[in-house]
Amino acid sequence: MNCPFCGYFDSKVVDSRDINDSVRRRRECLQCNARFTTYERWQVASLFVIKKDNRREEFKVEKVLAGVRKACEKRPLASGAVEKLVDDIEGELYRMGKTEIPTTVIGDMVMARLKVLDHIAYIRFASIYRDFADITMLKEEVDSIAGRADLPNINQLPLIPREELVEMVNNSKRGRK
Ligand SMILES: [Zn+2]
Repeated sequence: MNCPFCGYFDSKVVDSRDINDSVRRRRECLQCNARFTTYERWQVASLFVIKKDNRREEFKVEKVLAGVRKACEKRPLASGAVEKLVDDIEGELYRMGKTEIPTTVIGDMVMARLKVLDHIAYIRFASIYRDFADITMLKEEVDSIAGRADLPNINQLPLIPREELVEMVNNSKRGRK
């Protein structure tokens, strides 16, 4: 970084201190000896998501968190479970080392984790994300879960109160996004 006083390109660090997730460095210009401060912070490469209509937008973990939170509303989950699920996904996305990821990949990652965590949250998320065309598809999804004996919370069936199921289907018919 050039000296803000004389524009010289080089400086020496006279003091360095960690502040939260950044480093504060006190620098001294090698030409005019003026002192100035820089803050350096770690930054991951930008990640973009490719939406269904092929538009790209910057990946925002808050959006994933909001979607998962909504699906998990009023579910008896351990505190921090939702945040951890989303943290895991975020970490995995960055580890993939790609600059662009289809939203469907992220959606599938959420679904895979919710399926293990909580069936109702899973179905709620699926009903929004997959945009179930009609109740048959949704029912098939419910049945396919119900048929899996290896899932831990199988005795919490029926998965969804009928009213909620009907509401979901009506919402998806209205083309809610
Ligand atoms: Zn200078």
